[in-house]
Amino acid sequence: MSNVSRILNKSDLQQSDLVQLLQSEGEERQKFREKARVIKIQEVGDKVYFRGLVEFSNICAKDCLYCGIRKSNEKVLRYNATDDEILAACRLAWENRFASVVLQSGELSSPAFVKRVDGLLKKIKQLSNNELGVTLSCGEQTRETYRRWFESGAHRYLLRIEASNQELYNKIHPHTKIHSWEKRKEALQFLRETGYQVGTGVMIGLPFQTMEDLAGDLLFFKSIDIDMCGMGPYIEHEDTPLYQYRHLLKTKQERFELALNMIAALRLLMPDINIAAATALQAIDPQGREKALAVGANVIMPNLTPSKYRKEYNLYEDKPFSEEGTEQQIRQLEESIRLSGFGVGYSTWGDSKHFFRRTRQTK
Ligand code: SAM
Repeated sequence: MSNVSRILNKSDLQQSDLVQLLQSEGEERQKFREKARVIKIQEVGDKVYFRGLVEFSNICAKDCLYCGIRKSNEKVLRYNATDDEILAACRLAWENRFASVVLQSGELSSPAFVKRVDGLLKKIKQLSNNELGVTLSCGEQTRETYRRWFESGAHRYLLRIEASNQELYNKIHPHTKIHSWEKRKEALQFLRETGYQVGTGVMIGLPFQTMEDLAGDLLFFKSIDIDMCGMGPYIEHEDTPLYQYRHLLKTKQERFELALNMIAALRLLMPDINIAAATALQAIDPQGREKALAVGANVIMPNLTPSKYRKEYNLYEDKPFSEEGTEQQIRQLEESIRLSGFGVGYSTWGDSKHFFRRTRQTK
């Protein structure tokens, strides 16, 4: 029996097993990915859930060394979509039976920002007769802010740890109080205590990152018992400090394949969580998200950001700019999902089964 086959028969995957899975190639990799696909269907079904993504502002107080919208990038035209624009995007999601939206922005914590998100949540609930589910992805906030937003209707939150190895985290962030790994981890704890379905994730293929780091990321997700994950390839951006290390990077195709292996390995490790097919996969391969569905992902976030702002939410090079909100584009996406062997879970939140199991609620 090959090494990978032996690992696939184990019930308790160790770091060294995960490293081998992540490095697998050829037939072994196919076998490993096929097992992840089967487990996904068994555990979370064959439906893909859409979350309409609204990147409502690129104004950010942080200076993450990899991110195109970091505070110090003066080439970025900063925007703040109006409430009406945001609500129109949410209405589009609702009318197309997406059932959920994700509100994402740069990271701010001013009282005005907190209040604004709070008001938006209430308006989104109102416009959809309480039907639209809302995921927030607005960075680190205080416990009180997370509670306030939860009470106003957000029920899922995405906050990537970015790198679970603190040493690596410190290499890709400035060393200041607002870029603290401990604070980010603590924020994940606050979210969980508040009652959110909690999602986190990492970038894959960062300079200085090892296979052991990535296997450690997967074990970190398991140790904090996440409900959802959104992880994708790191893609360089020329106006960021990390760009100087691009010679250390794997090719984009290698990062893409590694990201697919991360998704497949996570599906084996945490069979009943929701895993998103990240947009960064699509930046490398137009069929990237569908390929992720085939190895374990079950959520797609079609981008509904108003088109005039799209190119200013440029986190990395080649980020797709086209809007995905037209009837024709939705049908195309639906068709390509169908061709991958899956269906779309319309008009249903598609919440994390893991969340209900860990909180012992029945769905
Ligand atoms: N401010 C929020 C936060 O920090 O969670 C959300 C917005 S942030 C721009 C969203 C995600 O973009 C980050 O968590 C990060 O992983 C990802 N990102 C930023 N720069 C990237 C890059 N160069 N390549 C791939 N992903 C990137």
